[in-house]
This record gives sequence, C-alpha cells and structure tokens, in this order.
Amino acid sequence: MINKFIGLNWKLNPETFSQAKDLGSFSDKKGVVIFPPFIFLESLKQLLVSAQLGAQNVFWEKKGAFTGEISPVMLQKMGINYVLIGHSERRKYFNETSTIINKKIKKSLDLHLKVVLCVGETQKIRNQGIKFVQNYLKKELLEDLAQIKNIPQLIVAYEPAWAIGRGSSDDPKVSAQIISFIKDFLKSKNVLNLKVIYGGSVNSANVFQFAALDVIDGVLVGQASLKKSELKKIFSAFYVS
Ligand code: PEP
Repeated sequence: MINKFIGLNWKLNPETFSQAKDLGSFSDKKGVVIFPPFIFLESLKQLLVSAQLGAQNVFWEKKGAFTGEISPVMLQKMGINYVLIGHSERRKYFNETSTIINKKIKKSLDLHLKVVLCVGETQKIRNQGIKFVQNYLKKELLEDLAQIKNIPQLIVAYEPAWAIGRGSSDDPKVSAQIISFIKDFLKSKNVLNLKVIYGGSVNSANVFQFAALDVIDGVLVGQASLKKSELKKIFSAFYVS
C-alpha cells in the first residue's frame, strides 16, 4: 500500500513553532505530506527529511498589492510541492467560489505546484441520494477546473463537507463508490495522472477500512493529525513506519 497519499491538514494549529517542530518530526515519513500554517513552512522545510510540505491555501496572482496574501511563486521558490485548494472551510468561511478556486488552480499548475483540490457535498445533498451527489460533484469539478487545458497531474480530495470535523466519517464503501465515479468522470475529461483520496474525520478507528480499499488513493486527515497516538495508527494502516 506504499504509494498512497497521506495528507495531514493541521488547519489553524499548533500555536507555537516548538509544537510544530515536535509534530513535524513525528510525522516526518515517506508518503506523508504535511499542510501546516504558512508561518511554519520555511522552518519545517529545513527540518523535514522524508515528509513533503504543502500550503493550506494560495493566492492567484504572482505578486502585487494584495495585502495578506501568499503567492504561488513564493511557495515554488521556497520549494513547497503541494497546495490545498478549495477546502470546504475556505468555501464556507471565506466565501471562496468556483471562480476563485479556478484562478488559484490555474496559477498553481502554471507554476508546477501539485494541486490537491477538495470537493464534497453537503449533508442535504447526500440525503437526497448518490445520484444527486454525483451530479453535484460533476458540476463542482467542471466549474473548479473550467478551461484548464492539459492538467499534468491532479489530486482530488473527496471530502463530504458534512463529515469534516465531526468525529465520525462517511461509510468507506460509499466513499469508495463515489471516488470511483470521480475517477471515471475526470478520466473522461482527460485528466489521466490522477489520485483521488478521502477526507472527513479519518481517525485511528476508521483508517484501516479506508486503507484497505484499493480505489481510494489515500487520505486527508485534519483533527487526528494533531495527536501522536492517532497518527501512529494512521501511519501503520498504510505500512508507513
Ligand atoms: C480536513 O481538514 O481536510 C479534514 C478532513 O478534517 P477532519 O479530519 O478533522 O474531518
């Protein structure tokens, strides 16, 4: 099961660099990509030996009068490989629309950053059934990726918004079915170098079920990525030591 993607989204944590260093060292394993807050990226870059780094967000312009933003060029020049775009918390709390997400993806791909695009439906849509979920995801993917030709490589994180930060995940078998749909859909759009991973309350209790399903190319872990006892089991599910 090596070759699976284990993304750790620290969100707005931890508070100090000393805590970030401790957590980063513990997670410094091949196959792991850590998404820390921006201010820890540079120092973690010096520290990590095996894990890779990603940014939780990025702006769509290379430079200019955009107070408070971080550009994809800055990330690229720092040697950061990955960028998370379209996380449901950014869509919800920062009103990120598909138009904004599309601009971020375009500029990041231009600069050869590896994009992890987060998509996922609300509870209301899931309650209407799988067909509705599929239609929602089709629309979201088409809008987020509109007019982007030649996507050399893409990671899609299927993150049902209702399963994020909730403590209990989606049924892994249902997610596997949806991930398979996403793969077929994007392949039909010529996105050939594609990984689709699952995110939404992955923890030590459910990770083995996700890891056992071949169609799921990995996981994106939020809350549980801040606890060493959880991480230990999550890594072991993917035979990462
Ligand atoms: C996430 O932030 O992408 C995530 C999946 O969070 P959690 O694991 O806490 O649900």
